[in-house]
Amino acid sequence: MEDRLKSIEDEALRALEDAQDKEAVEAVKVRYLGRKGLLTGVLKGLGQLPKEERPKIGRLANEVKTRIEKALKERLEALSSAGGPKLIKGFDPTLPGRRLPVGHLHPITKVLNEVCGIFERLGFSTAQGPEIELDFYNFEALNIPPDHPARDMQDTFYVDDKVLLRTHTSPIQVRTMEIMEPPIRIIAPGKVYRCDSDITHTPMFHQVEGLMVDEDVSFAHLKGILTHFAQEIFHKDTKVRFRPSFFPFTEPSAEIDIQCVICRGEGCRVCSQTGWLEVLGAGLVHPAVFRHVGIDPERYSGFAFGLGIERIAMLKYGINDIRLFYDNDMRFLNQF
Ligand SMILES: [Zn+2]
Repeated sequence: MEDRLKSIEDEALRALEDAQDKEAVEAVKVRYLGRKGLLTGVLKGLGQLPKEERPKIGRLANEVKTRIEKALKERLEALSSAGGPKLIKGFDPTLPGRRLPVGHLHPITKVLNEVCGIFERLGFSTAQGPEIELDFYNFEALNIPPDHPARDMQDTFYVDDKVLLRTHTSPIQVRTMEIMEPPIRIIAPGKVYRCDSDITHTPMFHQVEGLMVDEDVSFAHLKGILTHFAQEIFHKDTKVRFRPSFFPFTEPSAEIDIQCVICRGEGCRVCSQTGWLEVLGAGLVHPAVFRHVGIDPERYSGFAFGLGIERIAMLKYGINDIRLFYDNDMRFLNQF
């Protein structure tokens, strides 16, 4: 009989430990202490025991009952103080979850999207072209014949005599004009490749090319659009200046400077004490380029421009080494 009492107590206490809510505790109470409960059964059967055993077993049974009642009470208190959510062994659902790292766009992608957005809002649509390009589109159709000295301006990766990695996004101008009739208004973002690597050059970088062709397109349109662009991407008070320059595929050509974003024109190391920073190359489309794609230069005129995304990003964020963009160092990238 003593063993029986012991096992009833053990079972009851274990059942209480597993009880996860008030209903479960109540069920344990009914099962062991209720009118037809296991312990109650023992107490009721006391009369059938030999006379000399009754006091001892009776006392034992009462002690077991007291301990089970105490455990019931404690379990109920523990459950109500845990408040709401059920506790599962070894897991507390009330603890905050572990955060998963959230990715974000690369600074170059961000600036690229921003640049494209500015021109898209001006009505330019986006065009694309291959990164592995024919010599014809990269040079010849842009008025750069094989013996032209301008080829030396760009250190080209050649695949073979006729095939190369494009050195600029300008071949997309030619490809677009081949298949589209004016009016044309496109921007062409993409990767370009040159055999060059130092703090301001990487072998791969990004350019955005722009092209507008229609009747009566003049240098004034070019000037207005690029000034608007510079003030959108940097600051609405950014001063812009146009300097005469040379590109084989535009005539006249200009380089566009903005007032130094670091020193605001006072002169500093970044702008080599000039107060100005070069950000764009542009010009009116050369008639020879129009003739290559069968557009009549007597009827149509247009402008083209090109800019380097890494250069814009460096000025925008004050970064002094272009290679940081491609080192994949999370300490650098997480700042954007
Ligand atoms: Zn400066």
